[in-house]
Amino acid sequence: MTDLMTSYVGGGYLPPGDGEIFESLNPFTNRPIARVQAATAADVDAAVDAAREGFDLWSEMDGAARGAVLARAAELIRARADEIAHLESLDGGKPLSETPEADVASGADCLAHFAEVAAALAEGPRTPVGGGAYFYTRREPLGVVAGIGAWNYPFQIACWKAAPALAAGNAMLFKPAELTPLSAPLLAEILAEAGLPEGVFNVVQGGAEVGRILTAHPGIAKVSFTGEVGTGKAVAAASAATLKRVTLELGGKSALLVFPDADLDDAVSAAMLGNFYTQGQICTNCTRVFVHAEVHDAFLHRLLDRTARLRLGDPLDPETQVGPLVSREHRDKVMSYIGHGIREGATVAAGGGLPHGPALADGNFVLPTVFTRCTDEMTIAREEIFGPVMTVLSFADEAEAVGRANALPFGLAAGVMTADAERAHRVARRLEAGVVWINTYNLTPVAMPFGGCKQSGYGRENGGMAAIAEVTFEKSVYVEPHHVECPYR
Ligand code: NAD
Repeated sequence: MTDLMTSYVGGGYLPPGDGEIFESLNPFTNRPIARVQAATAADVDAAVDAAREGFDLWSEMDGAARGAVLARAAELIRARADEIAHLESLDGGKPLSETPEADVASGADCLAHFAEVAAALAEGPRTPVGGGAYFYTRREPLGVVAGIGAWNYPFQIACWKAAPALAAGNAMLFKPAELTPLSAPLLAEILAEAGLPEGVFNVVQGGAEVGRILTAHPGIAKVSFTGEVGTGKAVAAASAATLKRVTLELGGKSALLVFPDADLDDAVSAAMLGNFYTQGQICTNCTRVFVHAEVHDAFLHRLLDRTARLRLGDPLDPETQVGPLVSREHRDKVMSYIGHGIREGATVAAGGGLPHGPALADGNFVLPTVFTRCTDEMTIAREEIFGPVMTVLSFADEAEAVGRANALPFGLAAGVMTADAERAHRVARRLEAGVVWINTYNLTPVAMPFGGCKQSGYGRENGGMAAIAEVTFEKSVYVEPHHVECPYR
């Protein structure tokens, strides 16, 4: 186990103080891998002061200079990819077959993307308004921005929140989830090595209480939050007291629609990626798979065949495809949902429990699970489970499928599998979701705006100016070349 990890403030780690100490556990063994000290309210005050100082310097640098720092950070991340991927797998239980690409490369890509965006940031054009007067607009940074992360993509979330905020000239306090606190400080160290001025990116450690301190803090202009819908509502409500701007990247219960003309192997691939990748702990997952009645049985046959071949194991074994869930508590929550499914009459077609045998006994494993004979009213078809649990539902026509897909209060993502391009775009238009994939699932290139609608949240990450708009305000500058016209003589 490492020494006590403290918050990273003003360019270095704070000395141990009197904040609460918690342990980060390895989800494969449930043994501690690190001791971490939560920030106190005084530590957050110190971090806001450091960030404000950093902001004064950073926001005065031009976009190209800021972009150069972000680009160097992206290179350093790529150079340390193995180390970061290993840490993510150790801390979060995600297989090493995923973390180099889904976490590390995605984080580096995001910094590289916003490095270019920063360099290209420009004032709006002069717009004449008569008599030689004109105005132009500028995108101004908000100041000190807080990022609050979930535990499923700790390093990637830290990068996705930091990159646009820093590109636009803001300073940031980032709070990783208390279950996965280890990789965000690495990002802070890398940014410092890349030349980021002290105080511009700080990591405050801790759980909900530290999150509440951030959302209440008058020195923080905005909160970018990733987490559960319920927590998102609490963050929005708390932020209202100081009228902070808020971005909410929340959960969902997304739908995949499989039409009879779809390539069935691709449809099964999409459904499996959208339910079993990262043990199903992905916000956009298509946990409701609507399959047209004509192809339902053929789809299921192929799905069950391939699900039975998934390899569970130690996340650090490169052969492992499905690792443990992030914590014992979360495993028990997922198992309780499986219990609901069984009690409410769904059929367990695959999985439905814990793996047997001593090799996986210490980890938080749940077998990849497929429920069939589901109805839309069942708990497993209405609530986010955030585990490897797929519900397969059958439909008869397009309008019915779209209506059922849209029936829940969430709107994060959706997918449509069909060979008919006209139908694909028509359905994509009608699905109430922030992201719709046609003939694939869960791909999130950093140039694509990402975020939800309905109760899956608001605001966008990635996508160049889509994310810059979230961390800036538009200032209009009016220029009068003549004397002030005034009737008061
Ligand atoms: P969570 O809501 O329990 O916690 C998220 C973060 O909020 C943590 O850092 C936590 O410490 C903090 N927090 C908790 N209570 C708080 C409060 N009252 N005020 C401020 N901060 C508080 O979520 P989780 O269990 O860590 O993550 C899983 C959830 O995240 C799922 O619902 C998933 O769908 C969602 N998620 C969404 C996206 C997206 O981009 N839309 C991405 C990843 C995860």
